Amino acid sequence: MTPRWIAAVGLVLVAAVTVVVVLQSGESAPPPPSEPSPDAEATPNAQPTDDRPLPKKAYLRAACGLPAEWVERIYRGWKPGSARDDDLVLVPTPPNYMGTFINTSHSAAYDFLQEVPLVLYGPGLIKPTGPTRLEGEVTIADLAPTFAELMDFEGWPDRKPSRSLSEILETTDQKPKLIVTAVMDGGGWNALEQWPGAWPNIERLADEGASLEGAIVGSSPSITPATHTNLSTGTFPRQHGVSAIAVRADDGAIVGSFSESAGNPGARMMDPRISLRRTTIADEWDRANGNRPKIGMLGSGNLQLGMIGFGAALRGGDKDFAVMKSGEGWITNEEFYSLPSYVNEEVAGPEGDIESVDRSDGEADGKWLGHEIPVDGSPAFAPWENRTMQAVLEREGFGDDSVTDLFYVNYKAPDRAGHLYNMIAPEQREVIASVDAAIGDMVAWLDDNVGRGGYVMVVTADHGQTPLEAGGWPIARDEIVSDINASFAPEGQSVLQRTSASSFFMRSEEIDAFGTSPGEIASYLSRYRIKDNIPPGGSVPEGFQNRLNERIFDAVFPGSKLDAIVDCTGAFGTK
Ligand SMILES: [Zn+2]
Repeated sequence: MTPRWIAAVGLVLVAAVTVVVVLQSGESAPPPPSEPSPDAEATPNAQPTDDRPLPKKAYLRAACGLPAEWVERIYRGWKPGSARDDDLVLVPTPPNYMGTFINTSHSAAYDFLQEVPLVLYGPGLIKPTGPTRLEGEVTIADLAPTFAELMDFEGWPDRKPSRSLSEILETTDQKPKLIVTAVMDGGGWNALEQWPGAWPNIERLADEGASLEGAIVGSSPSITPATHTNLSTGTFPRQHGVSAIAVRADDGAIVGSFSESAGNPGARMMDPRISLRRTTIADEWDRANGNRPKIGMLGSGNLQLGMIGFGAALRGGDKDFAVMKSGEGWITNEEFYSLPSYVNEEVAGPEGDIESVDRSDGEADGKWLGHEIPVDGSPAFAPWENRTMQAVLEREGFGDDSVTDLFYVNYKAPDRAGHLYNMIAPEQREVIASVDAAIGDMVAWLDDNVGRGGYVMVVTADHGQTPLEAGGWPIARDEIVSDINASFAPEGQSVLQRTSASSFFMRSEEIDAFGTSPGEIASYLSRYRIKDNIPPGGSVPEGFQNRLNERIFDAVFPGSKLDAIVDCTGAFGTK
C-alpha cells in the first residue's frame, strides 16, 4: 500500500501543475480552479476500520450506521476545507423532508431522489441497446467524458470517477455535428413512474437508443445547480464547487450558486465565477477549437448556468448563448454570454401556449385545473422553450458544420409543478406529458435539420421528487430553528445562519460564545422527534397520532466529522 504522505504529495503536485482555468482579471475573481488528482475523490483519512471501536457519541454511532452509498453521495456533494466544519449535515429518515404538507423538498442521497433517466439517442452514433445496465456505477457526470469520446476530444482531462459510457457508443469515424442535452427538472424516475403512459417519446428514445439503468445524479443534495454542474463538468460539488443553491464560500461567506447573494436571484444575476471551480466540457471543447464550436443553453434562470460554464469569463472564451427566462421574456448576463435579440422580438411569447393550457381543461376561464396558470409550472412552458431554442439553433447554424456544437436545455415545469401541487397531483402528469412532447418535437427537428447520423439527443434529469402521502414528516423549519435556539442560544439570539433542506449553516462564533459545540447540537437533533417539531398549541396532523415519538433524522453530524463517517461506514470501499 502506498503510504498516505506519498499520495498527499502527489495530490499537491498535480494541483500545482495543472491549473486549467484562467479567469479574466478582476479584484473579486476567485482563485482559478485546478484539476483534481485523478483519485481526488478518495478520502485522505480512509483506513481500515475493522479493529476500531465504535464512536462513543450516540450521534456519531447513528451516522456510522448510514448506508455507505448515502455517505458517498453526501461526501461528493460537500465542499472540502474547514469553512463548513461547523455546518450540520442533515439526513432525515426517508421519506421525511424539510417542507410543508404541500411543498416537498428533494435534496438528499436516497435512491428515489437520485435515480434519473439517462437516455442517449443518436442513430449511427449510439448503439440501439435499449435499457442497458453497465458494470459499475453510472452517474450523469459520465456525460462529459462520453461527449469527449463522441467528439474525439483527446484534450478532455480524466476526471475520475466519471468515465465515458463507451459500451453504448457505435464504433465509427463519424462525429456528431450537434449534441442536444435535455434535462427534465425534477424528472427523476419516481416522478415518471408515477405517470406511466405520459412519456411515450422518452420511452421510444430509451428503446431505440440506449437507456442506462440504475443511473443516478451521484451527489447529495440532489438539487438543480449542483447536479446540472455534475453533468457538464464530469465532477461532483466537492470538485466543481456548486454545492447547492446557497454555497459556503472558502472565506466563510454564504453566496449563491451563481450570484453574490445567497439564494436564487433568477436570471438577472448570473456570474459563473462565484462558486464554479471546474471547466465544463463546453468550455474545454470551445477553447480547444478556437471558439468555433457553437455553445448554447436555454433555461429558466440562474440555477442551471453550470450546464454551459464560464462563457467569456474564461480567458480566451467567447460569449456563448445563455437564453434564460425572466418573466415572460428571455435575458442573459451580457458580460459573459450572449442573447440574440430575435428571441424576444420575433419568436412568439407564451401567450398562445397559456391560452391552450387554459382551454385544455374544457373552459376558457383563465384557469388550469381550477387555479392560476404558472407559466414555468404548466404545460405552457415546454412548447415556448422549444420554439425559442429551435429559433436559436436554426438562425445561429447549430449542427451546420463538422465541428460538434453543444446545446443544453432545462425543462423546468415538472419541478415547479411538483413544488406547487406535488408529483402525485394530475398537474404533474400534464407537465410531464408536455415535456415529453417537446422532446419528441426536438428529435423531429434534429431529423429534419441535422439529419440522422449527425446528432445525439440526451434526455436526463437533475433529481426525483418527494411524493406526498408516502408518510413523510414535513420538517417545519421555523419550529426546528426555534427549538435549537431555545436549547443553545440566549433569548433573541441564534446559532444558525441559514437553513436548507440538507444542511444547516451554523454561526461558529456564537456557538463558541454560548459555550456549546456543533457536536452537541447534532446530538440534540439526532434525538429530535416528530412531537418536538409540532409548534406549541399546534394540533397533530392526521396519520401522525401514533408516530409522535419517532425520531425525524437517521443522522445529523457536523461537516468536520464527514471524513470519519466515510471511514466508519466503509464508503468508497474503505472498509
Ligand atoms: Zn426543486
